[in-house]
Order: sequence, then structure tokens, then C-alpha cells
Amino acid sequence: MNTIYLDNNATTNIASEVLEEMLPYLKEMYGNPSSMHTFGGQLHRKVEEARAKVAGLIGAEPEEIIFTSCGTESDNTAIMSAVESLPQKRHIVTSRVEHPAVLNFCKHLARKGYRITFIPVDKQGRLILDDFSKAIGDDTALVSLMYANNETGVIFPLMEIGEMLKERGILFHTDAVQAVGKIPIDLKKLPVDMLSLSGHKLHAPKGVGALYVRKGTRFSPYMIGGHQEHGRRAGTENVASIVGLGRACELAGENLYKEMTYLKRLRDRLETSLLKLCPDARVNGDVNNRLPNTTNLSFEYVEGEAILLRLNEFGICASSGSACTSGSLEPSHVLRAMGIPATAIHGSVRFSLSRYNTEEEIEKIIEIMPGIIKELRNLSPFGR
Ligand code: PLP
Repeated sequence: MNTIYLDNNATTNIASEVLEEMLPYLKEMYGNPSSMHTFGGQLHRKVEEARAKVAGLIGAEPEEIIFTSCGTESDNTAIMSAVESLPQKRHIVTSRVEHPAVLNFCKHLARKGYRITFIPVDKQGRLILDDFSKAIGDDTALVSLMYANNETGVIFPLMEIGEMLKERGILFHTDAVQAVGKIPIDLKKLPVDMLSLSGHKLHAPKGVGALYVRKGTRFSPYMIGGHQEHGRRAGTENVASIVGLGRACELAGENLYKEMTYLKRLRDRLETSLLKLCPDARVNGDVNNRLPNTTNLSFEYVEGEAILLRLNEFGICASSGSACTSGSLEPSHVLRAMGIPATAIHGSVRFSLSRYNTEEEIEKIIEIMPGIIKELRNLSPFGR
């Protein structure tokens, strides 16, 4: 049975072009980029080449990119750097729907005495901007808001918020782990000071990420040790994965608009068909402003986990929440923050597509899913 993988917001496969570029750096090119000899120097050059490619995808300068081990490290570093650089300010603003990499780090800081404001969202997952402007004050060190939500795909209005913050001298970080490589990002125009990204969400390997830090932004390193990354992130570079991330960013940039159109077409075909063929189904999230690859659907009177198990029998991989929270039956904090009724949260399924999905795969899901929903509803004590 072939796997039909529609869980690309959890992780993606490594693109073959990416793997090919990485392989020499896992084998014969094993030197340390910090070494003085020519062998090490070749690796140093390759890391710098990758840095330029990552920067190129998001409209940054190469020296504004710091390689990290993952999106979580980038997020933690950005937040920690802000509070360490501005020690007199003890307030952070974030949202209720952030990934745990931001949410739980902020809760950790709250236990250490920082004041954290968690901005609510409306029923469609849109940030409530009134609450946002009321929340920021003179003691606010940082605003950290995600670019696009991993569960619903909803995109936050960072341009508007960034302009507001620039006037107030407050640092602005965005967790763009789900946005980079899926939608255009131009840091020449977008007024954010720091941005996190992660390799494994855009067809590079797991265990590599990057943090963009705008030139002139006060920065305090999180990993302390050697002088790597110009003293901004200690630890010998994961050269092969960094090379992979560079190539993945290059690929994403080359095909971005074509892929966005392709993914939106497949996603919309899946979504509209399922809404038509499955009664009592709804979309979670603002359909007018979300990632082109994501749909989060709720099916009343069924459990999302039961749907996933049945889909799994057909080799279809989807998700009923964020990858990090699945495995527990805790209802999604994102859908709860949106005020989605508990029954609809329990019946939610996220499909997240990539360039490797085909029309045939989408048609197969459209063919199978209505039967699964019907069958599960017949079994359920709450069924109709
Ligand atoms: N931020 C968002 C929005 C994510 O979706 C994820 C991963 O699911 C992360 C951060 C964490 O990234 P990583 O798995 O690279 O630590």
C-alpha cells in the first residue's frame, strides 16, 4: 500500500535534490568549518553559501542568518535574547494560539516573574487587534507572534503590527516555521526584528533551523561556548543539514508561486468536496487568509482520532492537531482559543499538503472519507 502523506505541517520528506547535495557532507567532506586548513575551509565556504540561500528566500542579508538546531531553538533564542537585551523591561506579548515552542517558553518566563499577555483570537483564528494595542506598554520588551498557524494555516497581520511596534521601540519576533517556503516573505518590507524557521517543514532534514536577526538588533546568544556563527550560536555547525537547508530554500524560492497555485487548487478541491459530501462538516480558520496547503476540518458526531485511524488503514496520513500535541487527547489549544465547540474540536482533522501530493491522491481521499465519516457516525452513541 502506498502512503498518501497529508501531514506536511508536522514534517516533510527530504527533497531528493536536497539529499543529493547533503551526501558528500555526511561522508568525505567531514571537516570542521572552523579549522584553519583548506579541508575545513571548503566546508566554511559551503556553510556561507547555504546562509546566502536561506537569506535569499526571505529577503534578508546573509549575515542576518544564524543557524540553529530547530525551530524551537530559534524561538527560544529570540525570546531569551529580547529579555536579556532589555533587562529593565519585564513584559512579553504573544498570542493564545502559538506553537508550544513559544507558548511554553513564555509560561516558563512567567514562572520566573515576567509578565506575559496572551492575545486572544476570534472564531476564525484572527488576532483581536483591539486587545493587542491595549496590551503593549512601556515595559514591553518583545512581541512574539506566529506568521501562520500550524493547525489552521491562518496568517497573522504582521505588517500592520510591525509598523505599530516600530514607533514604540518594542522588539518584534515572528515564528515563521510554517510560513517559510509556503508563502512569499520579504524582510526588506516586513518590519520584524527576528524570524524563526525550521528545515524539516520545507523538505530539508530535521534538526536544523535558522534565526533571522535584523542588522542592528540587540542580540544575546542562547547557546554559549565556541565562537561559531560569529559568537551568536556556539556549537560545531551541522554542516550537512545546513547545506540541505540552503538547497531546500533555493528550491522553495524557485517554485514558490507555481507551488502556491498548485497546492491551493488541490487543497480547495479536497475541502469543497468533503464539505459537500460529508454533512455537518465545517472549516476551522479564516478561509480568506491562510496558507495554501492547509485545511482544518471538523466533522460533528465523530472523534478525529477515530477518523485518523481509519484513514491510516488506507495508508493516508493526516493529523488531528499539532504534531507536538497529538498523542494526547487534550483538545487543541488553538481550536479552543477560537471558541470552537468541544464536539467540533474532537471531530477535527488537519490535512496539510506538499508539492509531492498528486491529484490522484486527493481524489482517493475524497472517495474514501465520506464513507468513513458515515460509518463512524453509525457506530457512535452520539451518531446521527
Ligand atoms: N513553530 C511552529 C509554528 C511549528 O509548527 C513548529 C513545529 O511543528 C515549531 C515551531 C517547532 O519547530 P521544530 O520542530 O523545528 O523545533
